[in-house]
Amino acid sequence: MSGIVVIFDFDKTIIDIDSDNWVVDELGATDLFNQLLPTMPWNSVMDKMMNELHSQGKSIEDIEEVLKRIPIHPRVVPTIKAAHALGCDLRVLSDANMFYIETILKHYGILECFSEINTNPGFVDEEGKLRIMPYHDFHTFSHGCNLCPPNMCKGKIIERIQATLATQGKKRIVYLGDGAGDFCPSLKLVEYDYMMPRKDFPVWDLICKNRELVKAEVHEWTDGEDLERVLLQLIMTIISIVDENTNQLFDCKFETIGHEMLPKPVYVP
Ligand SMILES: [Mg+2]
Ligand SMILES: [Zn+2]
Repeated sequence: MSGIVVIFDFDKTIIDIDSDNWVVDELGATDLFNQLLPTMPWNSVMDKMMNELHSQGKSIEDIEEVLKRIPIHPRVVPTIKAAHALGCDLRVLSDANMFYIETILKHYGILECFSEINTNPGFVDEEGKLRIMPYHDFHTFSHGCNLCPPNMCKGKIIERIQATLATQGKKRIVYLGDGAGDFCPSLKLVEYDYMMPRKDFPVWDLICKNRELVKAEVHEWTDGEDLERVLLQLIMTIISIVDENTNQLFDCKFETIGHEMLPKPVYVP
């Protein structure tokens, strides 16, 4: 193992658009979705939408067919395979749902590259209806984070991951995301971690405005091709630092060597 844990958001990070919007639009239910959205949390709207689509005669196979042709940048799948081949521990942290994510990752043959998927439960019930549940059951308890939607605080999940990693020696986290929900976890990253916000997307704006709150080194990316370049370069650099460090135990030049070798960080204003 490389000592690197790469955590990917899913919507607009692994895939190029929002999966919930894609499914609703492709199955012709956009108007109802827009009507429901102001009345309840997004995650609850999706469960209701799936109920509605089922009663309109849309099957699980219809949903799977729509998911399999979701737009994804052609460089993303090879990048995930390359990061996995380099020994990185890959995980998903997403506010979509398990059914969508597993269907799409399986379709591209990359489900096995991931050691963990953290997302809202999504399963087919006995009537053949897709049910989408909140990650945190906010009817019985509140996660208490005011940055995040009631069904999921990604920061709390990062803290859980960090606690398990702490028992496995020094690990560096690389986090990739685009949305406002990726800001809370970016605040949990520490000095030797890396945050990769998608440029000109909400998490990038939030990081620009709160630069002093983010301890991790920030490397922005624009699209799948840029994601490949930035991520693989970071992984190669971290691997070479770790090699250097294990070869030369107690080397006090470690910090200097490390920084010279790193790709130039993007210090967003
Ligand atoms: Mg996203
Ligand atoms: Zn949070």
